[in-house]
Amino acid sequence: MNEIKLLDREFSVYLTEDEIQGRVTALAEKINEDLKGEDVLFFGILNGVFSTGKIKELIGWNEDITGKTVVVIEDIVDTGATLERVIGELKLRKAAEVKICTLLFKPEAYTKDIPIDYIGFEIPNNFVVGYGLDYDGYGRNLKAIYKLTK
Ligand code: 5GP
Repeated sequence: MNEIKLLDREFSVYLTEDEIQGRVTALAEKINEDLKGEDVLFFGILNGVFSTGKIKELIGWNEDITGKTVVVIEDIVDTGATLERVIGELKLRKAAEVKICTLLFKPEAYTKDIPIDYIGFEIPNNFVVGYGLDYDGYGRNLKAIYKLTK
């Protein structure tokens, strides 16, 4: 399935399931290695709505993170606005160290100076779906990542 249609838009495969799995495994191994022996918490981020605009909420918000190394796991970093806000919250809660891991990163769209520690793939500034990312609620369950063509 190289080409798909979701609502009014067409997409073609950009990263296959195998490519994604290979990279995820490599990143996990690197993180394990780098943070060996540290008191680490992993934070996944869920889509949510907060005041104006689209913002995400942290899972495990009530957890005491004082003195811990927190690894933020993102699906995609675009402008970095979400990331900036999340890091601010984690620092307020006195995390010892915050590391950022994202599967996808759009360097051309990024407007922040915050370094990203672990990147799965740098991608062009195109809209993508699949592997958890949706287009208006569609495409989230696709195992590959597709980019918008039309
Ligand atoms: P930010 O601009 O704050 O870095 O990213 C905000 C959010 O926009 C991301 O977490 C993600 O939910 C969404 N987003 C950014 N680029 C894309 C994309 O190409 N595809 C999809 N499905 N969502 C995106």
